[in-house]
Order: sequence, then C-alpha cells, then structure tokens
Amino acid sequence: MKLDVLVVGAHPDDAEISAGGTILRLVRAGCRVGVVDVTRGEMGTRGTRANRDAETTRASELLGLLARENLELPDGRVEVTTDARERLAALMRKHRPDAVLAHHVEDLHPDHIATGRLAREAWYLAGLSRLAAESGDSAHRAKGLYHFTSHVAHQPTFVVDVGPVWDERVEVVRCYASQLRPADEDDDGEHFLFGADILERMVTKARYWGESVGARYGEPLLHVGPVSIDDPLIGMLRQ
Ligand SMILES: [Zn+2]
Repeated sequence: MKLDVLVVGAHPDDAEISAGGTILRLVRAGCRVGVVDVTRGEMGTRGTRANRDAETTRASELLGLLARENLELPDGRVEVTTDARERLAALMRKHRPDAVLAHHVEDLHPDHIATGRLAREAWYLAGLSRLAAESGDSAHRAKGLYHFTSHVAHQPTFVVDVGPVWDERVEVVRCYASQLRPADEDDDGEHFLFGADILERMVTKARYWGESVGARYGEPLLHVGPVSIDDPLIGMLRQ
C-alpha cells in the first residue's frame, strides 16, 4: 500500500515516544502512516518480547497506522550493513512514502545512531533504479527526510504543535506499560541516565519545544538543509 509517511525507529516505542504526536496529527489529517521498527527491543531492561509485541500492536491501533513492519535486526547491535540498508530500502520502495521520519544520527543510544544512518542511506538507495530492478521493483525516493530527536536535543527545522492530540499521544505511550513501570525491586523506576520516567521526560521536552513556537506541546523535527515551501510533510500537517 502506498503510504504518505513512513516512520523508522530503532525499538518498538521509539516512534511513539519521539514522534507520536506528529503521527497522530498526520493520521487525523487523513494521511496514511506506517512505522518500521528496526529491532523487537528484546534487550530492553523491562518487559518480555511477547508483552512488548502486544504493546506495539495496541499502540499501532491507537495511532491509526496502516502498516507496522519489523526489520528484525538484533537489539543493542544495530549496524549499517549492506544487507540491512537494502532491506530497509526495499520497504521504502514497497510503501512509497512522500516523507520519511527517522532518528537523528546523533544520539546516546548506538541503535538510534545506526537507525538514523540506516534510514538516510536506505532513503537514498531506494531511489536507485538499477538496484530496485534487481528485486523487480521500481525506484522510489521520498521527497523529504526528517529526523526526530531522542536523547540529544538539536535545534529543529520546525516544531509540530501536538497540543490538539496530546491526550491521545499520552495514551499511546501508556500502551508500553512494561517500559513505564519498574520491572522488579532492583528497578527503582528511574531512567538510568536522566533520573525521571519516560512520561515525565516526554512532557518536559514537549512543553519546552511547544513553548518555543507559542504552543503548549511541541515535537521538534530536523531536516538537513533548507526546506521547500512545497515540502510534502509540511503540506500534510497543514491539512
Ligand atoms: Zn530506542
């Protein structure tokens, strides 16, 4: 199915935590959105593979996604290999999005860094016709590639006002219950690095970025280089 937007995250929940409001706004505007998770998050400190899969299914329903795929790369060991980028490029040719959203290439988690690079390289490769022909596909390169942020703040190209979908956005992240509560008595419930839980950090960042554009809640997106006023993603968010 042709999608308008394809979001690429390293672990199930990354798309929701970093770009959930943008996805909800796009879907509410009538856009067809899908997500590719690069791993199943099986190395996460909290949750099992089975309950993480169930959480992802529920979150996908609430978001209104039309596709959710998994590249099945090993969690904690994501690398930009020829095989990985060609498999991701094949998914981009299959879904033919006008815009791709993926991790920024600067982050603390190596999987996020690798996924950002993987998405950028796959985005380019998907537009090469001879490579596509080897798989019997026709080439397709999305017009826009945007990066969302996770652990490291970047000066964004623009901020999406996610105030209109904030309550749903919180509900979507709450689907990942195994990630939001302590796993056992040794787990103090605090994020290992930042000392606050996922929801609290999400609210803090969204309030900060919202404030920067005069909105209550915002999500930053970064585009490498200037953006055309005819950019498809901006057009979709204006609907
Ligand atoms: Zn992640």
